[in-house]
Amino acid sequence: MTATLLDGRLVSDLLLKGVSHKVSALKKKKIAPKLVIIIVGDNPASLSYIRQKSNAAQKTGIVCEVKNLPEKTTTKNLVSLIEKLNKDNKTHGILVQLPLPPKIETPLVIRAVDPKKDVDGFNAYNLGKMFLSKEFEKLAPCTPSGIIKLLEHYKISVAGKNVTIVGRSNIVGKPLAVMLINRDATVTVCHSKTRNLTDYTKRADILVAAVGRPNFIKAAMVKTGAIVIDVGVNKVDGKLVGDVDFKAVAKKASFISPVPGGIGPMTVACLMENVIKTFNI
Ligand code: NAP
Repeated sequence: MTATLLDGRLVSDLLLKGVSHKVSALKKKKIAPKLVIIIVGDNPASLSYIRQKSNAAQKTGIVCEVKNLPEKTTTKNLVSLIEKLNKDNKTHGILVQLPLPPKIETPLVIRAVDPKKDVDGFNAYNLGKMFLSKEFEKLAPCTPSGIIKLLEHYKISVAGKNVTIVGRSNIVGKPLAVMLINRDATVTVCHSKTRNLTDYTKRADILVAAVGRPNFIKAAMVKTGAIVIDVGVNKVDGKLVGDVDFKAVAKKASFISPVPGGIGPMTVACLMENVIKTFNI
């Protein structure tokens, strides 16, 4: 078997086209949707993610302003900037690029973002609402949303399927588990303390790797015909690779998302969709 590629670039372009139609409609009403991205310090990976987000915004017509704050910024200064943006009626989405420098209290910063402008979907209010049902997933975190949309595009239903997610972070694994349960999947979430990981990965109809370790998921850990979603972004010898041993696993899976060109662009497109969703909250 050779897997069909889940082409995140192609699908994200379609999503961005949809967003740009909505932006045009808003502009006819004299509304210019605006996203403000705040970065503290100059982490090269963060700067590269911000470039991708700014480029996507530009493609859709969303105004994107990047505020670069120095490494020595305090939690208090950052929170007061967010509070100012919360009140600014020309700013519709606020995104604080993570990770923040260690001395900044990240939970306080995430809490400061007005839930109505929380386009990353990390605020406890937006995360909590997701627990109610699919209808309450308004500003859902972008990476899980991107995974769901990619599966939907390829008409892969999750209902009744066994899904194993490796990774339980607050931005990927946990919210994805909730979104999949909302869509009737049977979900197992694994992490570094999971015993006999392969027992869980091998029984997955859909396997999601969000670990942050290059080539962590080997072919022997995957069921023949499984659908494999690779969220990982790792640099090896200057090249981007995922968490899945792509070459070997692609021979065994029915569908697989590549890195790069899979979940990354889907995440960015879902961020742009969230900026537009702030108008209907
Ligand atoms: P994270 O917060 O570091 O979480 C990693 C998860 O992997 C944790 O739950 C950890 O378990 C688990 N883990 C680590 N070693 C393991 C092992 N040996 N066996 C089983 N589980 C193990 O990472 P994240 O933020 O979710 O990101 C994960 C990866 O996705 C990273 O490569 C990141 O760059 C990438 N990412 C990509 C996008 C995108 O847009 N494409 C977006 C977000 C993240 P514990 O909880 O027990 O520590």
